[in-house]
Amino acid sequence: MQTETLAAFAHNAAHRVEQEVGEDAQARCALALVAEAGLLTHTVPARWGGASHPGVDESAVSVRILCSLRNVLSFASGMLDVMFVEQGLGSYPLALGGQGEWVREVLAEVMRGERVAAFALTETGAGSDLSAVATHAQHDADGWRLSGSKTFITNAGIADFYTVLARTSGQPGEREGLSMFFVPADQGGLQVERFEVMAPHPIGTLTFEDVRVEPQWLLGTLGGGLELALATLGRFRTSVAAAANGFSRRALHESMAHLERRQQFGRPLSSFQGLRFDLAEMDARLAAGELLVREAAEAIDQGMEASTEVARAKWWCTENASWICDRAVQHLGGLGVQRGQVVERLYREVRALRIYEGTSEVQKLILAKNALERHRKENPLG
Ligand SMILES: Cc1cc2nc3c(=O)[nH]c(=O)nc-3n(C[C@H](O)[C@H](O)[C@H](O)COP(=O)(O)OP(=O)(O)OC[C@H]3O[C@@H](n4cnc5c(N)ncnc54)[C@H](O)[C@@H]3O)c2cc1C
Repeated sequence: MQTETLAAFAHNAAHRVEQEVGEDAQARCALALVAEAGLLTHTVPARWGGASHPGVDESAVSVRILCSLRNVLSFASGMLDVMFVEQGLGSYPLALGGQGEWVREVLAEVMRGERVAAFALTETGAGSDLSAVATHAQHDADGWRLSGSKTFITNAGIADFYTVLARTSGQPGEREGLSMFFVPADQGGLQVERFEVMAPHPIGTLTFEDVRVEPQWLLGTLGGGLELALATLGRFRTSVAAAANGFSRRALHESMAHLERRQQFGRPLSSFQGLRFDLAEMDARLAAGELLVREAAEAIDQGMEASTEVARAKWWCTENASWICDRAVQHLGGLGVQRGQVVERLYREVRALRIYEGTSEVQKLILAKNALERHRKENPLG
């Protein structure tokens, strides 16, 4: 789809989503619309029937395409954006580590929006530090028995399956001994409790009580779960930055439209130098973010090690989205905080992006570690 056609689709789809009442109805409507438009084919690698992209490994999704799509979807609607990307994030461990015809069938349903996916790593005691995961899988004659809990899981309650990181050996605190499992949502012993966050987003806590997991639902190798989880995050994290840019672009758009329209002291607000300085800074910060996303996405698609580029993009774009949306709220004055205004929604919507898929602080730790390593290599004598 051309960018203009995609933007028009997203604009109309956002309007349809807003007509639905309640978070789940909006989520399902958003998913059906992105599926109908064929966008979900970009969330599954070509090897499993997803869209193929020149120069991109058949067993991977194109980060450049994910980023382009999320930038446009998030400009129109956070719900369209999250329902699009979660199909990829939740099913990617299956695409990377699943084997057999059943995997192809599940992924085909993911692309048609008929099976809702979710990615379950976080626990009450394990957030930034995934080595603390305590949910455990016990091996028995029939496969595995899963016990424990996960929290802050996007799509909890509406997902048809979860890809779950669980301990198959060792103790919480050890990076070894974690494995990834495919768990259908209707398995006995799996319970969901929903809660709300500050912007519309289906989310909740999962409790596993002796949940039966079939042997073929172990994804990848035994003990290779953390690697699968990090490979998934490594593929999708840059797209969080792209979504942040889409929200920022919308905030800047809303801001400029208002400043041009609104008159105070006998002149349009856009004629005041103080506000023009703000617009200049919003524009330049956003443009820098777009370049960082492009750099990171291209490096990953070319198969390069890009942890620095990804961390720079995730940190810069998500932090700036908060700053840019905050300025947009300020530019609208009282209207900026009125429920129902676009900038008020954006202000709430961008906040979580600095937290999920690696917080801003975690991105800075990666950046500093990589920068020091480069420095030491280039200056062996200190
Ligand atoms: C809207 C939303 C959706 C989410 N969806 C999912 C999902 O689908 N699946 C899933 O598994 N998880 C999901 N999460 C969870 C998310 O990934 C975690 O919240 C995130 O990894 C941070 O973990 P935590 O909340 O436990 O914070 P903590 O790790 O407890 O961190 C708290 C604060 O301390 C800082 N901090 C931690 N360690 C350090 C350090 N070494 N140095 C400096 N600062 C540090 C953090 O940056 C943060 O500011 C979601 C979260 C949100 C808000």
